[in-house]
Amino acid sequence: MTADVHVVCSSGDCALRFPAPAGTACPLCGSATAVVAARLPNVPLRRSPRRQLALIFDNVRSAHNVGVMLRTAECVGATHVYHCGITAPPHHPKVAKAALGSEQRIVASVHRDVVAVVAQLQAEGLACWALESVAAADDIFVAAADAPASLALVVGNEVAGVDPGVLALCTRRVTLPMTGDKNSLNVGHALAAAAYALAFS
Ligand SMILES: [Zn+2]
Repeated sequence: MTADVHVVCSSGDCALRFPAPAGTACPLCGSATAVVAARLPNVPLRRSPRRQLALIFDNVRSAHNVGVMLRTAECVGATHVYHCGITAPPHHPKVAKAALGSEQRIVASVHRDVVAVVAQLQAEGLACWALESVAAADDIFVAAADAPASLALVVGNEVAGVDPGVLALCTRRVTLPMTGDKNSLNVGHALAAAAYALAFS
């Protein structure tokens, strides 16, 4: 259903305001609605990333999270996405549903052993960082300032975090600052914040 306009319910007691095609009845009270505003055209801010990012998904449990992260990968121009361990592959139906087509435009590969992937990339000269809230992890917004022009970022399992073998190999651990009671974000949200900090800041 397209929603090119915003409408408002004609019942003064209801007054629900929502996006919907013109002529849609109010979903709360059934009254007619009136068009109040047309949607502005979407104008993405186009800019090349400051840094080239490869992303390593280390045993991400939720296919939905993987799809969300592929969408982020496409938005930041990720050079490659490595689906490791139990991480669902790019064309898994639940991944594709959340990725909204991004899975078609990303260079991706599937691997059983995440430690082997990190070791291989390092052997090829690529810096590998882990996104994990461990001791001596650096604030991502500070670390981004002196990040190399090309690097790989590892994000880990929703419960277990990044594989300790990967943490041992990575040359830098980075984390997102926290000010509330929760000490972590959903992995998809964390990856988005970190990838944007590294790619564009
Ligand atoms: Zn209504």
